[in-house]
Amino acid sequence: MLSAMSRRPIRYLGDSILRQPAKRVRQIDGSIQNLIQDMIESMYEAHGVGLAAPQIGIPLRVVVFGMPDEPAFAVVNPEITKTEGTRLIMEGCLSVPGYSAPVERSESVTLRGLSAMGERISITETNTLLAQAFEHETDHVNGLLYVDHVDEGSAITYSPPRPENENVEADEHNSG
Ligand SMILES: [Zn+2]
Repeated sequence: MLSAMSRRPIRYLGDSILRQPAKRVRQIDGSIQNLIQDMIESMYEAHGVGLAAPQIGIPLRVVVFGMPDEPAFAVVNPEITKTEGTRLIMEGCLSVPGYSAPVERSESVTLRGLSAMGERISITETNTLLAQAFEHETDHVNGLLYVDHVDEGSAITYSPPRPENENVEADEHNSG
């Protein structure tokens, strides 16, 4: 990358951009690759494991993932092509800071799209944090938030976000 990465501010629940279906990327050029780098930087800065472009104010179908101890990667024009099973798991979102709640997600998720280099990719994950992130981030580019999936009457947990400069333990991660 020629340009320096930069962190961009996260948009929060109530911002209308989070509710708009994002546009497909027609061509993966330098500006998209710069966006991907900024998204990865912003995701790590916020201690997230995933991020969608609308969360930093860009209405495009671009998502990034950064699982603990694995290299971050992007999926452009992500589509979930297959799911199997259901599971109830705790979820949070960088755009709804501090809150988490149980959400029904699929056990197995197949995500297709393009890599940052424009190659076609298809990844199937089963019962992992990444499988959960696939559904969470694809929701974001469709204008959905995890709170849309929370059952009425479910317990929502609030733990105040940590100050910016406080070290976060390696095993603490927010969803994207
Ligand atoms: Zn999110």
